[in-house]
Amino acid sequence: LNAIEIKNLIKIYKDGNTALKGISLTVKQGDFYALLGPNGAGKSTTIGILSSLVNKTSGEVKIFGDDIDTHLEDAKRHIGLVPQEFNFNQFEAVEQILVNQAGYYGLPRKEAWQRAEICLKQLDLWDKRKQQSRTLSGGMKRRLMIARALMHQPKLLILDEPTAGVDIELRRSMWVFLQQLNKEGITIVLTTHYLEEAETLCRNIGIINQGELIENTSMKSLLARI
Ligand code: ADP
Ligand code: ADP
Repeated sequence: LNAIEIKNLIKIYKDGNTALKGISLTVKQGDFYALLGPNGAGKSTTIGILSSLVNKTSGEVKIFGDDIDTHLEDAKRHIGLVPQEFNFNQFEAVEQILVNQAGYYGLPRKEAWQRAEICLKQLDLWDKRKQQSRTLSGGMKRRLMIARALMHQPKLLILDEPTAGVDIELRRSMWVFLQQLNKEGITIVLTTHYLEEAETLCRNIGIINQGELIENTSMKSLLARI
């Protein structure tokens, strides 16, 4: 089973900007996959479409076999999205943010609190659970984004530039954590413009440039060529 199957994906924004010119790619279940490319290449558009925040113009997208045109709710449930920007209610307590998230997925209250406890402990935020999110450090905010994305136990975690603007120490601890999650069986897709990040973490890589997928290969074979 493939975690992601994209065929001939095209995105033309309303202003006429062509962000994706027909990309096709497959990400296998259990993979750790990087979408690499310069600014403006189409990475955010791609993950926006995968997580149904952006409408595609045409093409086919399946998440664990569920087509976003015909089985959108199932497709959405497979995905946990970690956006680049911190987008929480700043005045809400950390634990409340997680419980609310569970609510969006229809989890009963008791289970929501149980899940929140697990996710808070997993991301080392348990001691901060009563604090308003605005009081967290940058690193804690990043961890909160991941905790929130994991609340509904998605099979696929998608992260948009997870370590952009993060210092080296935090970056390394995030890498270790993501590798651990992947070992536990979660498929991970991230966008990055750091080759080193892709090199350290990823088994397979797609390189996107000006809306086209110019490479889709294993990290090993890419490194053997450069
Ligand atoms: P869609 O076609 O997916 O509905 P829109 O064309 O309506 O998307 O644009 C969505 C939002 O992105 C708008 O609020 C718009 O202001 C913003 N936007 C427009 N152009 C750009 C751009 N070049 N880069 C990033 N965001 C943009
Ligand atoms: P990346 O994530 O690789 O930096 P994006 O997917 O954000 O690339 O952008 C791809 C192209 O689409 C760019 O030319 C960008 O300006 C354009 N774009 C992105 N979002 C919008 C939008 N909402 N409306 C119009 N154009 C957009």
